[in-house]
Amino acid sequence: MKIYNTMTRNKETFVPIEEGKVKMYVCGPTVYNYMHIGNARPFVIFDVVRRYFEYKGLEVNYVQNYTDIDDKIIKKAIEEGVSSDAVANKYIKEIEVDAKSLGVKKATHNPKVTEEVEGIVDMIKDLINKNHAYVVEGTVYFESNTFDGYGKLSGKNIDDLEAGKRVAVEIEKRNPSDFVLWKPRKEGEPAWPSPWSDGRPGWHIECSVMAKRYLGNSIDIHAGGTDLIFPHHENEIAQSECSNGVEFAKYWMHNGFINVENKKMSKSLNNFFTVREISEEIPYEVIRFFLLNAHYRSPINFSKVLMESATKSLDRIKTGYDKSSKYLVKARDEKTPHNSMAEMSSEEEKVLISFRDDFEKGMDDDFNTAAAIATIFDMVKYINLNFDNKTNVEYVKNFNELFTELCDILGIAYLREEVLLDSDIEELITKRQQARKDKDFTMADKIRDDLVARGIVLEDTREGVRYKRV
Ligand SMILES: [Zn+2]
Repeated sequence: MKIYNTMTRNKETFVPIEEGKVKMYVCGPTVYNYMHIGNARPFVIFDVVRRYFEYKGLEVNYVQNYTDIDDKIIKKAIEEGVSSDAVANKYIKEIEVDAKSLGVKKATHNPKVTEEVEGIVDMIKDLINKNHAYVVEGTVYFESNTFDGYGKLSGKNIDDLEAGKRVAVEIEKRNPSDFVLWKPRKEGEPAWPSPWSDGRPGWHIECSVMAKRYLGNSIDIHAGGTDLIFPHHENEIAQSECSNGVEFAKYWMHNGFINVENKKMSKSLNNFFTVREISEEIPYEVIRFFLLNAHYRSPINFSKVLMESATKSLDRIKTGYDKSSKYLVKARDEKTPHNSMAEMSSEEEKVLISFRDDFEKGMDDDFNTAAAIATIFDMVKYINLNFDNKTNVEYVKNFNELFTELCDILGIAYLREEVLLDSDIEELITKRQQARKDKDFTMADKIRDDLVARGIVLEDTREGVRYKRV
């Protein structure tokens, strides 16, 4: 599996630090508004990255933070006459509603800055002790030229940075590219105690601290939008590597921008859309599918026309799946001779293997979801051309299973309505009988409830267990 690493500007073979595990940190949103379409992209893209690792049998520890203290949150709180906590909590809830609706799996950890201040103060103390940071009247700055690697991710040269910024140098900073780790409170702002002043953390330090706390000193993948490369990720590297003394992240992944109708998204252009607004016209599943149609590093253009075409494409996938499911149901109901569950032929097995290989080839190439979706369409085409009432049921069943498995990696999970054949149900009934014999009533009840959820009702009769489809 290859991943494009922003640090080396190369596609590299993925080798996890610890075998069988992936430690992944994705920079999360500042919570002062609904999720906008630009925020939705990293949510969906890195969710697919995670799902693909899990499909490959790796255990993923996925951390995404919420920046719940920030100038923008404080400003919104003042505008709305509420506390900044109230603003943050409201939008965390709303963002989670959208993320869930987009089919994004919940992160292993979603730390919030306001709950991590103690760890932040500790790391700042450590950076001061190691002579990488200094205090000026209650403000703590990171001294960027104490870190030789400063600029290595963005490719920026520290001298150029300094020359460019010279005019706007804040007098108290030693160098123009030094950045804030801690700032003293201003009137009316929330604050936490620290050895330097009552105040709050700068933006960059939170991610260094949270990554360390939940993932350790060195992580496998650090991800976020391209706009975060400089200064945010550059500063994270400086803080973490100076404090921990080891490489911070092995692979840096960055997703491209989203334009709206070919223009940069901005409030002033009035083309700033929240996912909630869009979802009033376009289902969440189409938004997700649309975001996966391009490679994650390319910029994408959000437009009405493209959303209409995404709707149609997704319909084609659903129709293909429905069609093959129909044959299964028909075979089940008619008990025709070909419902005898003949083994698959080697030709049939080869078809399945080749579709799986194609899909993996796309995904192994730096998560090329566009190529993976092309494989899904090839499968739809195959169903339309080859499946009919005479197709071996075992083959259709396995084909459907592969189809749902691959769609699930992309998170198009609504396709996951499995068709239960008589033989599947009988197998589950036997399993339930065994569970009852073993006095594992929790398991027995679970099997019964799962069947009910799929429209199968069990009746315990004197002659044994009967079932009916309702
Ligand atoms: Zn971050």
